[in-house]
Amino acid sequence: MKTLAEYLDLAAVAHGHICAGQVLGVRLAMLGLKELGIDDPFAERKRLVTYVEIDRCVTDAVALVANCRLGKRALKFRDWGKVAATFCDLQTGRAVRIAAKESSKQAAKELFPELPREEGQQKAYAQLPDDVLFCRAWVKVDIQPEELPGFKGPRIVCAECGEGINFKREVLLDGRTLCRACAGERYYSAL
Ligand SMILES: [Zn+2]
Ligand SMILES: [Zn+2]
Repeated sequence: MKTLAEYLDLAAVAHGHICAGQVLGVRLAMLGLKELGIDDPFAERKRLVTYVEIDRCVTDAVALVANCRLGKRALKFRDWGKVAATFCDLQTGRAVRIAAKESSKQAAKELFPELPREEGQQKAYAQLPDDVLFCRAWVKVDIQPEELPGFKGPRIVCAECGEGINFKREVLLDGRTLCRACAGERYYSAL
């Protein structure tokens, strides 16, 4: 594993700036990897799947350290608005969920009361102990075969719009095989 400082340099480049979220995210992911005993996720690229629970700064840092990317299907997003991530070791079947403690902000404030909030948090998150910043729990994650990075399955064509659907995302509705949009889960509307 790289050092915190090394990961923060990489995070600043990948994310575009250094921020409290980068520091917290790097620390969170380093703890997850440590718990699983995975020293170098770059050397063991196919071993990890990571679930993130928020789409904010912290997630970029988690994805970087865990080397899990959306485009590799190794990063899963659950839109729960929580600073937490679950690291799943595909080799051992073990998974650990790391969540930022609600009290971590207050702990940062108490450590550097004289600093502006963002600056104080950046410094504090770099040095407060894991147990002050995070809760950790061993969990069970049932990852379906079609969720795994290397899944190969048939491509289905939607009976309504004709677009191709991968990874078993089709829906059977009134005897027709449809994409989720045509089945009613549309997040956009036609103009
Ligand atoms: Zn940021
Ligand atoms: Zn469709």
